[in-house]
Amino acid sequence: MVIGFGSNLNKPKNQVLKAVKSVESLSETQLVKVSSCYSSKPQGPQDQPDFVNAVAIFYTAKSPEVFLKSLQKIEKNQGKSKRRHWGERMIDLDILLFDNLSINTETLTVPHPEISNRDFVLIPLAEISPNLQIAGLGKIEDLIAELSETYLIRT
Ligand code: ATP
Ligand code: CA
Ligand code: CA
Repeated sequence: MVIGFGSNLNKPKNQVLKAVKSVESLSETQLVKVSSCYSSKPQGPQDQPDFVNAVAIFYTAKSPEVFLKSLQKIEKNQGKSKRRHWGERMIDLDILLFDNLSINTETLTVPHPEISNRDFVLIPLAEISPNLQIAGLGKIEDLIAELSETYLIRT
């Protein structure tokens, strides 16, 4: 399963690394591979700091819904609070992929609906899984080729 991490407050790179550790320490869950951190311009409101993003592959025996609840607990513990849409946040944890499952419930959409539009997801994901083929979306290298201009900086 693949998780996306994002932060743009209070030493964002540290926030991302701390969240990776927290997910790794969940029960029935193991870290398989984590990408480098990348900085990116905010999506949505521009009057906020740049983001730091990373993605990581985990193995988990938890169900997607239970796993999402665990992620939300981590976000809360790390200080995620109410904010504007796509605005600044201490930490954001998104389930990008979960095996080859396609999930559409009230609380969970997997694959994450924005994957193919986001350089800050595709580029770190290609770093750790260059041959990835996403069911219904295609090869990661093709998705990256279809992105309009991107600039991400490894941090
Ligand atoms: P985006 O989803 O566009 O990245 P966001 O991350 O800012 O936006 P949040 O406010 O963090 O959105 O999440 C809102 C809700 O999204 C959560 O309460 C959760 O139930 C739901 N959600 C749906 N699909 C997912 C997913 N794949 N991963 C994480 N949350 C999801
Ligand atoms: Ca998000
Ligand atoms: Ca989110």
